[in-house]
Amino acid sequence: MKPRLLQHGPLMASLESALAEHFDLQLLSKQTDRQAFLAGRGGEFTGLVTSARFGADRALIESLPKLAVIASFGVGVDAIDLAAARERGVAVSNTPDVLTDCVADLAFGLLIDVARRLSAAARFVRRGDWLKGQFPLATRVSGKNLGIVGLGRIGTAIARRAGGFDMPVRYHSRRIIENCPYDYEASLPALADWADFLVIACAGGAATRHLVSREVIDALGPDGFLVNISRGSVVDEPALVEALLAGRLGGAALDVFDDEPNVPPALFGLDSVVLLPHIASATRETRQAMADCVLANLRSWVDAGRLLTPVG
Ligand code: NAP
Repeated sequence: MKPRLLQHGPLMASLESALAEHFDLQLLSKQTDRQAFLAGRGGEFTGLVTSARFGADRALIESLPKLAVIASFGVGVDAIDLAAARERGVAVSNTPDVLTDCVADLAFGLLIDVARRLSAAARFVRRGDWLKGQFPLATRVSGKNLGIVGLGRIGTAIARRAGGFDMPVRYHSRRIIENCPYDYEASLPALADWADFLVIACAGGAATRHLVSREVIDALGPDGFLVNISRGSVVDEPALVEALLAGRLGGAALDVFDDEPNVPPALFGLDSVVLLPHIASATRETRQAMADCVLANLRSWVDAGRLLTPVG
């Protein structure tokens, strides 16, 4: 008999098919009465497959009394109640490393876009405005100071890319990293004050909520640019919108927002912002590698009783 696996939220069609080959896969989204389904059949599932977006809250974890493993598609685990999982002894896996390069690539793409105004200039051409005059001057990238919030896997890959642009790099996180080639800045406002570009690459969740506060935004200032590929929750979004509208911040390039897919409409008319629909890991190659990682974790759990990429 195949092990029974509950799926929360949509996954890539190819991953769903692969999971269905190896598991008795049941989709929570297909149940018309989710509460009744969980109350009646929640005890059948030892595994839950989910994504960074859908996660697993305490209520869902508690409604699955035999749950032993949660495999998540994505590296961020802020939508999974890790404390609830720990209390119940439920092991959790994510998909680290395989998405690092694509997310770092996109962070740099955003940085160059917002500084050189690529998206704004493209809109200028399409509107036919080039026929009426020149596009305004933008901001140089090479040689400028890059501050990184969270020098983890993705933050480090962003720092490596900055080397190709001769950018001095400093970072902020809770801990200083031994033998790190980049300077540590214990104060985030001080890092923002030094930086021309501040890239957010830390984990999301309660601990980092509004880490990028009004004070940090003001320290970055009218000549500074904010790039966020982490989580919308890390930035005080109303303060960011206010600063952009008032010209107190040079620009912002955002892949993530506080209430996705809702983006503050006040940003739509601003050429100083680049807005993307949370696509940092969204390449065919990386999404396939993430899908392979989810499947490999679940198969290893069943075959060998251990996860390949457990969340610490
Ligand atoms: P990682 O290797 O675990 O790095 C996370 C970094 O965040 C660490 O350097 C950590 O350093 C720092 N951090 C955690 N809490 C902090 C705090 N309170 N203050 C300052 N820094 C803090 O994770 P990763 O693989 O690089 O991924 C980072 C994040 O990127 C994910 O959690 C996810 O939210 C986001 N992400 C977004 C996309 C997208 O599509 N936009 C795709 C993938 C990932 P310390 O522990 O030393 O503080």
